[in-house]
Amino acid sequence: MIQLRNITKHYPVGFGKQEILKDVNLHIHEGEFVSIMGPSGSGKSTLLHILGLLEEPSEGDYYFQGELVQKMNDKKRTQLHRGAIGFVFQAYHLIDELTVYENIETPLLYKNMPGSERKSRVADILDRFNIVAKKDLFPNQLSGGQQQLVGIARAIVAEPAVIFADEPTGNLHSDQAKSIMELFAELNRNERITIVQVTHSDVNAAYGNRIIQIKDGKVQ
Ligand code: ADP
Ligand code: MG
Repeated sequence: MIQLRNITKHYPVGFGKQEILKDVNLHIHEGEFVSIMGPSGSGKSTLLHILGLLEEPSEGDYYFQGELVQKMNDKKRTQLHRGAIGFVFQAYHLIDELTVYENIETPLLYKNMPGSERKSRVADILDRFNIVAKKDLFPNQLSGGQQQLVGIARAIVAEPAVIFADEPTGNLHSDQAKSIMELFAELNRNERITIVQVTHSDVNAAYGNRIIQIKDGKVQ
């Protein structure tokens, strides 16, 4: 599903550049549940953004489902963002002008799912995440943890082929975190959805089948 070959990423700093990712090579197979771990500032979010087609690598080749990402046009990328890829952002990135219900419904609208099916899908997930009472509120009326749940609900509602999740339980209580990890494990096992999560938690990582350790921009 995912192949990175000699990926680097750098940002300009003054007259020079800061190397964030250094010669990263990795494969992720369909159906895997992988955890990316490493110290703060080591490049985990940068790597996940590249994997999720949200940032371009500076050098190297990225193949997603066998296709070279650098050669994909905008239409193809948009199609993947609306279909194959679900992304849970570290900073949530909900749409401020939409309610909880509407935020979660958005990926289903892009899929042109019929109204009745949409309604029952969103209702199921609201129920499962225990946020039915919040459905008509806007993101700025929610706690950080509630926003995080809505961000996860939005990423999984359309059952993408792969879910990229950046510290998905960073703002949740341990019992909520446990139920999110159980949900990820179930989606992975029953729907064969590939999961790639960034986490600091050994407990979370234990739900996956592999850990990718990153330090100073290098896969260890
Ligand atoms: P992590 O998620 O492991 O904490 P990040 O990938 O967010 O790390 O960041 C790695 C490094 O890249 C940090 O030093 C950060 O400041 C830098 N960085 C991230 N995004 C940018 C950017 N858009 N411009 C410049 N530097 C950035
Ligand atoms: Mg990060």
